[in-house]
Amino acid sequence: MGGVIIKIGGFQKVTLLDFPSKVACIVFTKGCNYKCPYCQNGSLVLNTSDGDLVDLEEIFSYLEKRKKVLDGVCISGGEPLIQKNIKELLIKIKKMGFLIKLDTNGTNPLVLEELINLGLVDYVAMDIKNSFSKYSITVGGGNPFLDNIKKSIEILEKNNVPHEFRTTIVKELHTVNDILEIGKLFCPKTKYYLQNYEESDNVIEKGLHGFSYLELEKLKNNLKEVMPNLIIRGI
Ligand code: SF4
Repeated sequence: MGGVIIKIGGFQKVTLLDFPSKVACIVFTKGCNYKCPYCQNGSLVLNTSDGDLVDLEEIFSYLEKRKKVLDGVCISGGEPLIQKNIKELLIKIKKMGFLIKLDTNGTNPLVLEELINLGLVDYVAMDIKNSFSKYSITVGGGNPFLDNIKKSIEILEKNNVPHEFRTTIVKELHTVNDILEIGKLFCPKTKYYLQNYEESDNVIEKGLHGFSYLELEKLKNNLKEVMPNLIIRGI
């Protein structure tokens, strides 16, 4: 891409699930400033070497050929907004005529705002990892960048870019009260998704648990009065 370097660790050719109402592909960037123990993309987060990078030119040539079939490109990770040349990547994808969905953990509000102001993102899915008092432990320890999270929420709310907030819920980390606390951080009209954790070979830390179907039903019933826009994926 004309000398632009970006660490791409994976590419999914088609998804009907990730970009609402669109047929899309997914570009996974490498590296993240969090180390969430339940992260499903552990290898992308922990292995940030240049060794097994996916060739960007191959992705562009795939996109060129699929212009009529694909509506958009999801940029996921890892955390895409820590990539130095993320703007250049999005400009190139936009010029090809694709819509862009961005998945982010919300820790880089300045970059987020710049991309939105430049019209480079059409949909944003931002993770809110937990209630603020449990954020650090939920993201693997260290600085949770809470001011940045608040700022990113504000940016998404004040701009007209369609967006959703979402939380992966883990039995050892989340309670009903945590979800209620998270719900106070944004406008109640915003779409808010809970995704149940499932262990896989690629998670950063094994031994954590998701909720049972019955527990999810109970959670939904407990929350539906105060959080009418909450959706639990899969139930
Ligand atoms: S879940 Fe997201 S924010 Fe957390 S380590 Fe994985 S990629 Fe980073």
